Amino acid sequence: MAKLRFHIRFPEEKIPEPIIYQIGHEYQVITSIRRADVRETTGWLDVEFCGETEEIERSIEGLREKGVSVDPIELNVVEHEQTHPCTMEFSEEQIQRYSRHIILPDVGGKGQKKIQQAKVLVIGAGGLGSPAALYLGAAGVGTLGLIDGDVVDLSNLQRQVLHTTPNVGVPKVESGQQLLAALNPDVHVQTYQEHISESNILDIIPEYDLILDGSDNFGTRFLVNDACFFAKRTLISGSIFRFEGQLATIKPHEGFPCYRCLYPEPPPAGLVPNCQEAGVLGVLAGTIGVLQANEAIKEILGLGESLAQHLLLYDALEMKFRRVGRPKDPRCPLCSAQPTITTLEEHHVSCSL
Ligand SMILES: [Zn+2]
Repeated sequence: MAKLRFHIRFPEEKIPEPIIYQIGHEYQVITSIRRADVRETTGWLDVEFCGETEEIERSIEGLREKGVSVDPIELNVVEHEQTHPCTMEFSEEQIQRYSRHIILPDVGGKGQKKIQQAKVLVIGAGGLGSPAALYLGAAGVGTLGLIDGDVVDLSNLQRQVLHTTPNVGVPKVESGQQLLAALNPDVHVQTYQEHISESNILDIIPEYDLILDGSDNFGTRFLVNDACFFAKRTLISGSIFRFEGQLATIKPHEGFPCYRCLYPEPPPAGLVPNCQEAGVLGVLAGTIGVLQANEAIKEILGLGESLAQHLLLYDALEMKFRRVGRPKDPRCPLCSAQPTITTLEEHHVSCSL
């Protein structure tokens, strides 16, 4: 296998979309569109070719016959071992499905491939997990884990958009899997029809790159934080209450604060009412869940600024977003130099999970 980088100049200033499709369809060896924006001044597109040398040559010839200028920018052929094949090929359908990602300069074919290879666990197929899972599935996240022990209730449908009226009474993970499969058959949905608990969490979390917490109670939120800390997994934490939402990216294994740096202990059980008791604006679940998906995709792609050192606060009534600093607590019971919690069993959260 060989890898070559080329500049391509299209006849037009702007790349017509059909050419993107055409590249994928006719020139399968072009595996990564590194920068799909035509540089304004030059009109060049930076494309990476990947495949057998002869295939690449044939493809270049084919492009030239169509009036496309092709100039090499890296002449060296990079030889890959057979065990490291250029696996960037997308099917024609995938190129169409993900074309709006692929043409984004900071995503491209390589980024889309990263999304495809990602494994994300969504804890709770409810208000936050529903919109998050839908957008992650639509984006083409290769493996989506869904864990939830509940069945769909009619009162869920005001916000839990992963479920539909005919599925009332059906396990949420099953209902979610159905809709995700209909949305994007590329996505492998792994379901866990159980409540997340101390006894199963450390078996499940290590299977995933990224954990998205959409649980609706403090007990689970602290459990997930602690388990992600021990398993060294990045956690995208979201929560909603009436008209307000919160969002943070937790990755203490990279030196950033954990959830306990902000809230050392959960409030006593029963002190803070849950959604069932306090009510919640349905759309708010969508807003925060989609923001969780946004941060998850950024983590997968390594793009932009993460929320690892901030807490995002959202007030739906005032329509205000506020980002507040979230420093590391040197006396944090979990992630400081002298932790008091050293195993998951010690996390002492007695709230109902
Ligand atoms: Zn901490």
